Order: sequence, then structure tokens, then C-alpha cells
Amino acid sequence: LATHNLNKLKEFKDMLEDIELISLKDLSFNDEIKETGSTFSENSYIKAKTIYDIFKIPTIADDSGLVVEALGGEPGVRSHRYAGDDAKDSENTDKVIDKLKSIGLSTSKASFVCSLTYFDGERTISVSGQVDGRIILDKRGYNGFGYDPIFYLDEYGKTFAELPLSIKDSISHRHNALVKLKEALK
Ligand code: IMP
Repeated sequence: LATHNLNKLKEFKDMLEDIELISLKDLSFNDEIKETGSTFSENSYIKAKTIYDIFKIPTIADDSGLVVEALGGEPGVRSHRYAGDDAKDSENTDKVIDKLKSIGLSTSKASFVCSLTYFDGERTISVSGQVDGRIILDKRGYNGFGYDPIFYLDEYGKTFAELPLSIKDSISHRHNALVKLKEALK
């Protein structure tokens, strides 16, 4: 699994329980992989292929982010660096809030999207999952990370950051993509 994030590794292991997964930490791989694609899908492919080409081990890679309708799909593939290369989560979130305010909106439809690519040198499997909600301008809640405090789900009356992690993890974009990947790998 092309990640250093041990929480992600656990989430993937829990879902793909028949597969032995190792992370980039296990391979002591610390180089940065440039995410030069213009879509989540391109970026997850670039990461999977880069790692496969080096280690020749079948690789799964992910790329995800927030897509805000009223901002023409921003932050999109730039979600991690929306407010600058070393931007904190709170700065990226503030930028979304400020941009919506500057166009006179108090909310906008939005989705979290996750693309997963499996590559083993011959076969490529690409799937994506999403979760739909809307952006609110006042941050709520402390769970999760990233844009969670402004991502509001009407059906729960809560933001992702207000939901227990166990619920977020059962409805998230990553979960929905993993369900599809598991099916496709079978
Ligand atoms: P990554 O591709 O999973 O590393 O995600 C890239 C960026 O998208 C993160 O740094 C966050 O800003 C945003 N993002 C992805 N997934 C989530 C989520 O579940 N909650 C909040 N923000 C997320």
C-alpha cells in the first residue's frame, strides 16, 4: 500500500483482510512521489506505478480530496496544499470558507472523493468512491482531520468532525472506494 500513514494501512487491512499488506514504511521508502496528475485517478495511478516499478510488488495507491461545487471543483487534487505547500488543515479549511464568503454563498454542495488504483505490472484496476454533503461556514467538531469540520451531512445533522470516527469510516469516500476495490480484486 503506497502510504506511510499507519491509520490508512489499518483501514485497508481491515477491509482487504485476505491480502497481506505492507506500507512504504516497511520498505523504508521515503522519497516524495510527485503527484502531477490533474485527477485523483491519475494521481493514484502515478503512485501505484511508481512504487511497483521500484519494488516489483503489486501495489495499491490512493488519492483523495474535497470537491466543492460552487468553487468549480476546488480544492480537488490540490486539497492537501490548497492554501500553500506547507499549509495546515485549518488554513486550507479557512481558504474554502473565505472563497465561498467572497462569492456571497453560505453553503455549497460538496463531495469527498477517493480514487484507488491497483497495479501489478500487467493489470490496472481503478475505482473511486465518494460521499456527498455540503460545506458550512462555521467549523464544527474535533474528530477526523482535513476539511472534516466544514463537511456537513444533512442526514446526520452533523459534520464529519462531529461524527464518531467509526461512523465516518463506515460511510466515507475511502470506505466506498475500498468496497469497490475489494469486489474488483475478487
Ligand atoms: P490524501 O490523498 O488521502 O492524502 O488526502 C489529500 C487531502 O485531502 C488531505 O490532506 C485532506 O486535506 C483532504 N482529505 C482527504 N480525505 C479527507 C477526509 O476524510 N476528511 C477531510 N479531509 C480529507
